[in-house]
Amino acid sequence: MNKYIDEVLEKLVQKNENEKEFIQAATEVLVSLKPVIEKNPNYQKTALLERLTEPERIITFRVPWVDDNGAVQVNRGYRVQFSGAIGPFKGGLRFHPSVNQSIMKFLGFEQVFKNALTTLPIGGAKGGSDFDPKGKSDNEIMRFCQSFMNELQRHISHNLDVPAGDIGVGAREVGYLFGQYRKIKNTFEAGVLTGKGLEYGGSLARKEATGFGLIYFVREMLKANNIDLKNKTAIISGSGNVAIYACQKAAEYGVKVVAMSDSNGSIYDQNGIDLNEIKRIKEVERLRIKEYQKKYPNSIYTENKEGEIPSIYRIKADIILPCATQNDINIDCAKILVQNGAIAIGEGANMPTSNEAIEYFINNNVLLAPAKAANAGGVATSALEMSQNSMRYSWSFEEVDNKLDCIMTNIFNTCYKTAKEYNLGINYAAAANIAAFKKVSAAMDAQGII
Ligand code: NDP
Repeated sequence: MNKYIDEVLEKLVQKNENEKEFIQAATEVLVSLKPVIEKNPNYQKTALLERLTEPERIITFRVPWVDDNGAVQVNRGYRVQFSGAIGPFKGGLRFHPSVNQSIMKFLGFEQVFKNALTTLPIGGAKGGSDFDPKGKSDNEIMRFCQSFMNELQRHISHNLDVPAGDIGVGAREVGYLFGQYRKIKNTFEAGVLTGKGLEYGGSLARKEATGFGLIYFVREMLKANNIDLKNKTAIISGSGNVAIYACQKAAEYGVKVVAMSDSNGSIYDQNGIDLNEIKRIKEVERLRIKEYQKKYPNSIYTENKEGEIPSIYRIKADIILPCATQNDINIDCAKILVQNGAIAIGEGANMPTSNEAIEYFINNNVLLAPAKAANAGGVATSALEMSQNSMRYSWSFEEVDNKLDCIMTNIFNTCYKTAKEYNLGINYAAAANIAAFKKVSAAMDAQGII
């Protein structure tokens, strides 16, 4: 490969040996940077890759709270402020039992590149907790969020670090977090969190942005390869925020979404998924996707099995939109998808595809819209929310949605041009990494060794 990249990766693996997700994310990026690194020996002199892969700051903290039975529970909170080179730290909060330092670091690292691709002035961060919101009452969620913010408030502000939602953190959680921040700080600092409710500084189209943005990116990617979205079939893993709005926008473009899932299993409806029913089950009632069968007894529900690929990926479709979690698609899964004739993968989730599977898709001419670029619409619209908060003004849904479409189209064009410039063929994943790296490294260079 390249001696400098090899050395950095070797040290990174030694230093972070228990952090497999972080090692995976860093390897995917560093390996793809070879053509840029080789052209500029200065990167090695200034230890740029070593600095780029070491977070500026990691904060971990205790989150004690009292459950409805009066018992004291203790969770661990995290905030990884990865890079502030091009703007205030920015990235979501994840509440899920699987959260650990490796997952926080991989997400924070990816966020640095994603945020650079949006062209907006935002650095990269991620945070969250191993708290499991499933089955908790509203009051428990509120008490947890308040305790989490009691500590996080020391480390954030609209110019320093601006968290948002992610898995397990939606409008309800952001509301409780914002309320506690406002109470402690005794000030209405709207730009300290994004994904807020519309009544207190949120942006129209933020809720829809990641899913809509994904489809805008996929539309551009298919167009550049002379393929039309219309009349294609799709499967979407997950049934959370990203999955739901990807489904809505895909349907608007004439795509038939035949399956969606949650962590328990998948639902297949040959007539096309009824998204209103999914919204009722997931956004209103907070139930399991299996519930869909009650209204549609002819749909097929398949339970996931421990150690096997998620059941949804056995369903045939033209377009595959992983919108659940990391490492959903391993090499075995990729082989099944290719065999079933998939033509494109649009990564709505962060790092849903293993590095081996990405390579397999590209080698088999399956178009892959990489997460860093394709799901950047959420954070881009968060940055638009910050702009509106600064102006004390709000744009209409159409204005925000049009800006989002322009941003996503622009991100695809950047990937496309970079792929051409570096002879990468359809490897938009490498192109996204290179384009983002150029921006972040230039900002780091300009700011000296810090
Ligand atoms: P939600 O919490 O709204 O939804 C997550 C969905 O994924 C649920 O349907 C969940 O099912 C399912 N899921 C399946 N397996 C797992 C698992 N092992 N761990 C967690 N969830 C699982 O999250 P979002 O839709 O916000 O996020 C989905 C993905 O998109 C994540 O990778 C996130 O990082 C990424 N993303 C989100 C953005 C946003 O704006 N929200 C922006 C950019 C990326 P169940 O209910 O059974 O847990």
